[in-house]
Amino acid sequence: MASVDRYSSDSLRRLLGSLSSVTFKDEDGQIEYFGQKVVILRRDAFQLMKSELAARNAGGTISLILGIVGRRVGGEEAKAFKSQAGFQELSVNASTPDLIRRAVEDTNMGYGKMLIRELGISAKTAIISVRNCFEAEKSARRDASGCFFTLGYLEGLFSELIGSQLRGVETNCVGKGDESCIFELGPTFEKSQWKL
Ligand SMILES: [Zn+2]
Repeated sequence: MASVDRYSSDSLRRLLGSLSSVTFKDEDGQIEYFGQKVVILRRDAFQLMKSELAARNAGGTISLILGIVGRRVGGEEAKAFKSQAGFQELSVNASTPDLIRRAVEDTNMGYGKMLIRELGISAKTAIISVRNCFEAEKSARRDASGCFFTLGYLEGLFSELIGSQLRGVETNCVGKGDESCIFELGPTFEKSQWKL
C-alpha cells in the first residue's frame, strides 16, 4: 500500500532527521525547532519556579497550571509535526503506530528519553516511560514531586496524534524514588472545564 510505503521506518527516520534540526537565526536572536520558535531555558529555572510555588503552598496550582501549559505545548508540537510531515489529517492505518512511535521516541526536545511501552490505537490508551525526565527531581517535599508538565505534554501530544482527547496519570516518578517516570493515558469522557 502506498500509504504504508510512504511512512516506512526508513522514510520516517529520514523525514524526522530533516525535521528535527534546530535552526539558529543569530541575526534575529531566534531559534526554531519544527519551524516553531523555541527558547533555551535553564532547567534550573523551571525547577526554581516549581519549588517556589510549592514553598508557597501552591501545590494544587502547580499541577493545574503546568498541566494546562504542557497540554498546549504537546498538542501544538504534534500539530507542527503533522503539518511538516505533510499530513494534516492523520488517518489511522497500518503505519499509524509506527508513525506515533517515531514522533515520540525519535524526537528530542530535551524532556528526557521517551519510550512507548504500550499503544492501543483503537482503545485510545498509551503507557509511556520517560527516563531522565527533565522535570523529575528527588525531593523530600511530596508536593514538589510529580512531573505535571510532562504529563500534560504527553496528554496533548497523544490526543493530537490519536485524534481523541486523552488524559492520564503519572504512576511512577523519579521524584518518588522510582527508576523512570511512567505515564498511563486513556480516553476521557468528561468535557474539561478548562479551555485548552
Ligand atoms: Zn516524574
